[in-house]
Amino acid sequence: RIYSENSSIYAGNMGCVLYRMSDVELVKEISKARQNNNTYISTKAESFDGSKDSIIKDITYTRIVDDSDSTYIVMVNTSITPVDATVSTLTNQLWMISVFVLIVVGILVLVMNRNIAAPLTTLNNSAKLLSKGTYTYDDKVNAYQEVYELNETLKKAAVDIQKADQAKRDLIANVSHDLRTPLTMISGYGEMMKDLPGEKTDENCQVIIDEATRLNYLVNDLLDYAKLQDNKIKLNIQEINISMLLANIYDTYHHINNKLHLDLIMEDDLMVNCDPNRIEQVIKNFINNAINYGNDQRVELICRKIDDKIMVAVKDYGKGIDPQDLPYIWDRYYKVDKTHVRSNIGSGIGLSIAKEILQLHNIEYGVDSKVNQGSIFYFKFNSIK
Ligand code: ADP
Repeated sequence: RIYSENSSIYAGNMGCVLYRMSDVELVKEISKARQNNNTYISTKAESFDGSKDSIIKDITYTRIVDDSDSTYIVMVNTSITPVDATVSTLTNQLWMISVFVLIVVGILVLVMNRNIAAPLTTLNNSAKLLSKGTYTYDDKVNAYQEVYELNETLKKAAVDIQKADQAKRDLIANVSHDLRTPLTMISGYGEMMKDLPGEKTDENCQVIIDEATRLNYLVNDLLDYAKLQDNKIKLNIQEINISMLLANIYDTYHHINNKLHLDLIMEDDLMVNCDPNRIEQVIKNFINNAINYGNDQRVELICRKIDDKIMVAVKDYGKGIDPQDLPYIWDRYYKVDKTHVRSNIGSGIGLSIAKEILQLHNIEYGVDSKVNQGSIFYFKFNSIK
């Protein structure tokens, strides 16, 4: 602050202590400067929180400059805060911040442990049991969405593994059953024909041949099924005359059994794109089932063009299938009759093979059935002509 003779203000910071000094104080500072060769330094000590460490020194420098025509008074004021006080203030604040951060971090750790780490540890322990076929999952998992979803995925995997395990056990049980029966028959008839010369008849030879054929069917079907499951079967798609293929199948059945009531109802020269061997396999499976479950009644082999589709169907007038069993008959070893009975023809996995083949062809397929009225198994190709 600079004063001229007539006390008017020339410069300075308006917030400074000098502007807040009373006139009495100002005059006191100036007169002390006058007495002290025009220069005076006054100091004032003040504690801002009552402690010794926090004493601030307020220093005021006063200088009187006598010019030739006027007198100027220059006053400068500054406050000096002891370093100790700053350090202790900073230390206190640092402690407070550290404690606060520690508390926040502690709460975060607790929350994360409860919602992420603990459920993950439980999931990990449960997942280790998955390979052994058991999974004890926590249904009320209290965690973040991602951990919750992981639990749900593992739960689903566990159910799938258990299903696959059960299916494997069923398959082994059913296949063993199906293999054992023809083998027992073959060895029994063989021994009987060896021991009893009178039993060496054509009929007994035929039983052995039939059982060997059945074994052949079973093993071939199982191999096919395994290959289809592993995607090892590649279709050999060709443009073929499906009417001719059906006529050949019809002839084969009539050749084997001319008492069979198999009717062929079809339009000639219908062309489709397919793998003829695999489609023949599907149609034969449908016909065999129709014969097996058709109560020896009429079986119709149908092929006709409907709009832009060519439908191939096998219709029987047998016992039909209960609506509640319909969705499952395409499953491996699903039996409407729950006790595992040996099929007269086929292996028990015929429809599951048919399903795989038709899905590989990417065509619509299905079954309509009414209990005690019969069933119609069908699939539909896209027409190419
Ligand atoms: P299976 O060797 O037992 O016939 P499939 O896979 O071919 O095996 O058929 C599965 C099940 O679907 C059969 O066990 C049978 O219960 C039912 N099924 C299949 N075709 C017919 C049909 N035409 N009429 C009645 N039931 C059928």
